[in-house]
Amino acid sequence: MPKNDTDGKSCTLGGYPEYAVKVTNVAQIQLAINFARATNLRLVIKNTGHCYLGKSIGAGALSLWMHNMDQIDYLPNYKGPGYSGPAFKVAAGVTVRQIYEAADKYDVTVLGAVSWSVGWAGGMITGGGQNPLAGVYGMSADHVVAFQVVTANGRFITVSEASNPDLFWALRGGGGGTFAVIVSVIVRVHPKLNVVTAGWYLDASNNSLEDFWKGTKKFYEVFLDWAESGIYSFFIMGNQPKPFLSMAYLFAANHTAESYDKVVKPFFDYLDTNNITLTKPHTSVAHNNFYSAYQAAWGSNNFPIGLDNSLPANRIVPRRNFQEKFNQTYALIKEHVSAGKHLLGYHKTPVKYANTNNAISPAWRECGMFMVTSSNKSMDHSTPEALKLANKDLQENILQPWRDISPVSEGGGTYLNEASVEEPDWQESFYGGYYPKLSQIKRKWDPTDVFYATTAVGSERWVVQDGEQGVQTQNGRLCRV
Ligand SMILES: Cc1cc2nc3c(=O)[nH]c(=O)nc-3n(C[C@H](O)[C@H](O)[C@H](O)COP(=O)(O)OP(=O)(O)OC[C@H]3O[C@@H](n4cnc5c(N)ncnc54)[C@H](O)[C@@H]3O)c2cc1C
Repeated sequence: MPKNDTDGKSCTLGGYPEYAVKVTNVAQIQLAINFARATNLRLVIKNTGHCYLGKSIGAGALSLWMHNMDQIDYLPNYKGPGYSGPAFKVAAGVTVRQIYEAADKYDVTVLGAVSWSVGWAGGMITGGGQNPLAGVYGMSADHVVAFQVVTANGRFITVSEASNPDLFWALRGGGGGTFAVIVSVIVRVHPKLNVVTAGWYLDASNNSLEDFWKGTKKFYEVFLDWAESGIYSFFIMGNQPKPFLSMAYLFAANHTAESYDKVVKPFFDYLDTNNITLTKPHTSVAHNNFYSAYQAAWGSNNFPIGLDNSLPANRIVPRRNFQEKFNQTYALIKEHVSAGKHLLGYHKTPVKYANTNNAISPAWRECGMFMVTSSNKSMDHSTPEALKLANKDLQENILQPWRDISPVSEGGGTYLNEASVEEPDWQESFYGGYYPKLSQIKRKWDPTDVFYATTAVGSERWVVQDGEQGVQTQNGRLCRV
């Protein structure tokens, strides 16, 4: 919206769709798809609208707004191809918070995401779903056993290992908004499990700079020991007011207090021995179920969305970086933080669980640390010219060193769901070696590109003519390349 404009006279819809169907049943989806296909209209699928890249919006489009389909059914004795046992049937608009609450109610555990406001069955599950139980159970989409979808030709079908297996493969990890409209998902659930949550803060206010980095180096030396023991974490590093490492939420799934202490003891012993002081001491709490632990961590966090002071980006850093390239990787982390660049890190090893024959980026199977960063927040982001400069800095100075140190050829990659929309070579970076297969599946199921989303499979055939906005937006006509 133009700055200081309060009378609305010069406002436009920008990249937002012109019309939206507030979907409450399957027939509405079929009608909208058939109408868009027959009239050559741009169609977008939207759930919560969380996508940073603009995959759920489009100027002049007709939008399918799925958010109100929020039914959850517990199926204690589900029997289906590939899996028999307890499961949930989750409608397209259910949020992560809603499914975690349902799991708590039925005394089971389900995989979701960190942020409770994210849609569970839309972009998150189709992108793979990075989640706090990754070290124990892998990615959220690894647990999907069937979908009900409406395809580009308007058919309502079941998709599973036995029915339409190519689409089943693609929908688990190949990205949202491009293969079909998901109506519901069947996902297996797991027994209750123990979790230890913990936190602490290390900085250079109570320690010399040298000691701060000494403690931090030790943290990265034991990084894989923690990650491979099932620990997931969410920590922030920065250099203001003094260099710091804030372990906001450590989430040790499948751990008791005793087993957790055993894993982390060498690190805290090292700090003690070297007189390195934690500004906020290490505290931990043992929980006997996921929901209580989640509430003690992200569940009570008011995740901000829609901020316009930076451009987000990420890198999936392989385990081998901490094994074969430790010194270079640690040097990059130190340089990144010392230069004031944003670093949100996660311990994360999405183990190969069952049912991993899907389109989730191969980089996730190699992952040791997930790193979220952004353009420099102190730069101006308010005009196309400023955005262009901020993006150039992000691509060249902030992200490129991470791409160089964790190339796709060595197991690195980028999570398509929390990425920079300007990621170069996104087909390779987001989808690894799976892009050619995903392209074939897209061609088969949507030969006329009824579905389009920026950076989604098949999107290279289209361009949004948005003029010069500094970065790619959805504020313009969608035309064939
Ligand atoms: C604050 C915040 C925290 C986040 N935390 C996590 C996290 O912990 N783990 C994680 O994995 N990701 C996380 N993400 C990223 C998140 O997974 C993506 O933004 C995801 O795309 C959101 O999906 P959505 O359906 O809610 O959003 P939308 O923006 O509505 O949709 C995103 C994409 O999915 C498509 N889509 C939506 N519904 C359907 C449907 N029914 N059928 C087919 N396609 C559909 C859209 O077309 C679009 O391409 C986070 C994002 C934010 C903003």
